[in-house]
Amino acid sequence: MSQTSTPPHTPEPNVTMDEITALAKRRGFIFASSEIYGGIGGFFDYGPLGAILKRNVKNAWWREIVELRDDVVGFDSSIIMHPDTWVASGHAAVFHDQLVDCRNCKHRFRADHLASLEQCPDCGMRGTLTEPRNFNLMMKTAVGPMEDSAAQAYLRPETAQGIFVNFKNIYQSARKRPPFGIAQIGKSFRNEITPGNFTFRMREFEQAELEYFVRDDGSGNDLRAYEEWVSARKRWYSDYGIRAERLRFYELTPKERPHYAKAGTDVEYLFPWGWGELESIAHRGTYDLDAHMKLSGKDLTFFDEASKSKYTPILIESSAGMDRTTLTMLVDAYENQTISAEDGKISQRVVLRFHPKIAPVQVAVFPLARNKPDLVERAQTIERALRPRFRTQYDEGNVGQLYRRQDEIGTPLCIMVDFQTLDDAAVTVRDRDSMRQDRVAQDQLADYLSERLGGS
Ligand code: ATP
Repeated sequence: MSQTSTPPHTPEPNVTMDEITALAKRRGFIFASSEIYGGIGGFFDYGPLGAILKRNVKNAWWREIVELRDDVVGFDSSIIMHPDTWVASGHAAVFHDQLVDCRNCKHRFRADHLASLEQCPDCGMRGTLTEPRNFNLMMKTAVGPMEDSAAQAYLRPETAQGIFVNFKNIYQSARKRPPFGIAQIGKSFRNEITPGNFTFRMREFEQAELEYFVRDDGSGNDLRAYEEWVSARKRWYSDYGIRAERLRFYELTPKERPHYAKAGTDVEYLFPWGWGELESIAHRGTYDLDAHMKLSGKDLTFFDEASKSKYTPILIESSAGMDRTTLTMLVDAYENQTISAEDGKISQRVVLRFHPKIAPVQVAVFPLARNKPDLVERAQTIERALRPRFRTQYDEGNVGQLYRRQDEIGTPLCIMVDFQTLDDAAVTVRDRDSMRQDRVAQDQLADYLSERLGGS
């Protein structure tokens, strides 16, 4: 079994959530949804840079889990499924949180988030909280022209069930046999009682889920597969530069995991408000396939040609939130840095130290002066030439502000085209983290950048 790796000390937050939300809005990462109407709790929009950031996070997951492996296939199921899906999965009956209302301030809480039911944590009044009552988190909708009960359907609260009900379609068409996995990324919806902490707890969010099917041969191979996935996921977070001291893999005790799960690990990040779950990895036994076989009456076992026998594979699941991971990338990358220049001047800069594969812009190109057509044209030509290989951006203006802006959006490298460039066909490349400047010949620029960034 894996060890719970809790960092030895709890580091101070590097940023407040107010700073993150302000930066996210100012630079176009994340906006409150339908802001001009006052917003709607638990929904957010990703701005131009946020959309790329989140796409890069999803691509990094997909690349690792699907493209770089030959034992995992991709999948994309519909958001609305037959309502019986949620009966079999248990969501219709038990996907409840306990809800508590304050009769005084009308605020609503999850009972398990309250220290006590005596006092309202918002208005401070005593004896105003209601008894906890069940609240189903699934969002309802109606399918077809009649809004009667026969038309009632749900927006999926997780993507995984689409995989389970298609297990046979997928393994037969993809010609896969256990051990193999099915992965998908998609939207999920939960009518969270108390959405909050920016994009940490939303009502519409995206999940990346992997379901890995294994034949239990009695040798402990199922637990080994689980351990391998825990390790693979540890490597992924570390490869993308998430600080080890802010990440922990918390191994659930038997009491903390569902009765059918043989093992489970929560991946948690230390946000400014405390530890929050990014992903859960679990050994789910045969629970999910069994449940769908029972209700649908359809056979979802695997038929092994060699032994001419049928069996139900056990399942290792990794379920990660892409919005929470994107938020982690933002929070983890943030640094408010004090810089002392050679002349003794002290200044501050905000810098997002994104991994180059995650950074929305990898290379920014500027002319030293925007009123010099030769420089502008050369800078634009260089940017256009680099565009097919890197995520680039052309910008112009006050040099100090240009660097400041690129630091704040986490661009690893900036290229300055100056007057000397017109003579020697070389440019200055400035490194975001060290602020070191290198002079690089224009004809070697693409290779230089590629080496520094490791491709797009
Ligand atoms: P929590 O206890 O925080 O409500 P959960 O244990 O219900 O989360 P899971 O059902 O295990 O979450 O979902 C897997 C992943 O999906 C979570 O680790 C998280 O990253 C993401 N996720 C779940 N609910 C939300 C939400 N409301 N907003 C954003 N991401 C979410």
